[in-house]
Amino acid sequence: MTPSPVRVYLGLGSNLGERATHLTGAVQLLDASPGLSITRASSIYETAPWGDEEQPAYLNMVLEATAELAPGELLALSQSIENTMGRERTRKWAPRVIDIDILLYGEHIIKAAELQVPHPHLSARQFVLVPLLEIAPDLLLPDGARVAELADPSSRCVVWYAAAPWPQRHRGERA
Ligand code: ATP
Ligand code: CA
Ligand code: CA
Repeated sequence: MTPSPVRVYLGLGSNLGERATHLTGAVQLLDASPGLSITRASSIYETAPWGDEEQPAYLNMVLEATAELAPGELLALSQSIENTMGRERTRKWAPRVIDIDILLYGEHIIKAAELQVPHPHLSARQFVLVPLLEIAPDLLLPDGARVAELADPSSRCVVWYAAAPWPQRHRGERA
């Protein structure tokens, strides 16, 4: 049975090679996947590494999408795109060509070993909150926290941003 459509938010990151190309490539692969349709894409932000700081700066962006996939299917899809794009899994928080995290899956709270939603570090990561604020300024987290109150656009970890090169950035634009 196909699940009902759910609004999801994904966090993308890259800090190896042609970082922007990796992000836009991942957006296209995600959007081309059955059961997933990207509705909004943030700008691309350059950000300082988080967790393990001895590595190159990241480019990050956040996507809003409509998913007709169960949470586990969305995780499997994300990981298969990471693998297709050459993601190597070494140590925790190691540099990577592409990372695709599930930030939010509707208002669901998931606490499985292989999938925790909202993403466990969402509220502590300005490199996710600032792009999320850009595309979903009124968003509430399942615990009622407002993205607009958590995000700090002047955060020093978010160094600069450029308009997303993805041409359908505002497909389904509401304003
Ligand atoms: P972090 O999760 O802190 O951002 P990371 O992205 O570097 O770190 P990965 O190596 O990409 O971590 O993923 C490790 C595991 O995290 C995955 O195998 C996956 O099962 C699990 N995981 C748990 N919750 C999520 C989630 N919300 N989105 C993606 N992966 C998740
Ligand atoms: Ca991550
Ligand atoms: Ca990840």
